[in-house]
Amino acid sequence: MSGDLNIPDAPVIEGAEHLHSGKVRDLYRMVSGEHAGRLLMVASDRISAYDFVLDSTIPDKGAILTRMSLWWFDQLASTVPHHVVSTDVPAAVAGRAVLCEELAMFPVECVARGYLTGSGLLDYRATGEVCGISLPAGLEDGSRLPAPIFTPASKAAVGDHDENVSYDAVVGAVGAETAAALRELTLTIYGRAEEIAREQGIILADTKFEFGARSDTTIVLADEVLTPDSSRFWPAAEWEPGRAQASYDKQIVRDWLTSAESGWDRASGDRPPALPESVIAHTRARYVEAYEILTGEKF
Ligand code: ATP
Ligand code: MG
Repeated sequence: MSGDLNIPDAPVIEGAEHLHSGKVRDLYRMVSGEHAGRLLMVASDRISAYDFVLDSTIPDKGAILTRMSLWWFDQLASTVPHHVVSTDVPAAVAGRAVLCEELAMFPVECVARGYLTGSGLLDYRATGEVCGISLPAGLEDGSRLPAPIFTPASKAAVGDHDENVSYDAVVGAVGAETAAALRELTLTIYGRAEEIAREQGIILADTKFEFGARSDTTIVLADEVLTPDSSRFWPAAEWEPGRAQASYDKQIVRDWLTSAESGWDRASGDRPPALPESVIAHTRARYVEAYEILTGEKF
C-alpha cells in the first residue's frame, strides 16, 4: 500500500520492471523481449471517488478504458502523433495495457475546457478568471464557455491535487515556443474530440492531455486520452446549466457513497466502505455504455 490512498502493490509482471503506480494505473518498463525499453502502461480496475481509491474494483474497467483510449488515439491520428507502439502486451495484462514509446514528458497537465465546472468553476467564482483567462459574468455550473479555453495545471505528486496555473507559468516551465504548441494542440484535439462526442449525444465538458517529446523534439500525445478518468462526459440530453451535471461514469458511486445507506460520512476523513454488488454492476454497465455509445462498437 502507498499512503492513505490505498493503492495496492503493483503485480509482478515477467520481463517488466515496475516504475510507478497512480490511483488507477501501473507503469512498467519492459526489460526483455521484443519490446525491451518500451513503457508498459497498465490500466487496473481500480476506481477513485472523493479522493480515495475505493476498496471495490469495477470488473473490466481497465479493459474498457484502454480500448476507449486506443479508439481515440486512432480517431486523432491525423491530428497528432501518439505514443502507442503495440497492444501485444504480456498475457497477465492482456486487453488492459499498451506498450508505448518513452517520451520526455512536459510537466504540464494540458486541460481544455468547453464548459465551466469543477476547479474552473471554483476559480471563476473567486476571481472571474480561470488560469488568468477572464470570462464573462453570469456563468453557472455547467455553462458552455464562449469558446474552449486552455487551462493548464501543474502535475501534483500522487494523492495531491493538480493546481491550475497561468499560461505564463507554462511558458516559464517549457519555454514560449513549446507552450504555444501545447496550447494549440490541446485546443485542436479538444475541438475535434468534442465534435465526435457530440455526434453521439455526449458532451465532452473538459479533458486533460499529457504530451511528451521525442529526442528529435516532435511533440507526441501520451498517457491515456479521453477516458472518463481524464475527462468529463455528460449526456447531452440531460445538460442543464445551473446545477451539477450527472457524470457519465461515477455518478452512481458518488450517489451511493453520500446516501444514508452507505453509512459513510464524507467529512469524517474515514475511508469509504466497499460498494454493494448492485452499485458495482451498475457502474460497470455505465462504462460499457459510454464505450459503446462513443465508439459505436460492442465491448
Ligand atoms: P494519477 O492517479 O493522479 O493520474 P499519476 O499521474 O501519478 O497519478 P498515472 O497516471 O498512473 O499516475 O501515471 C502515469 C505516468 O506515466 C504519468 O506520470 C505520466 O505522465 C507518465 N507517462 C504517460 N505516457 C508517457 C510516455 N509516453 N513516456 C513517459 N511517461 C509517460
Ligand atoms: Mg495520471
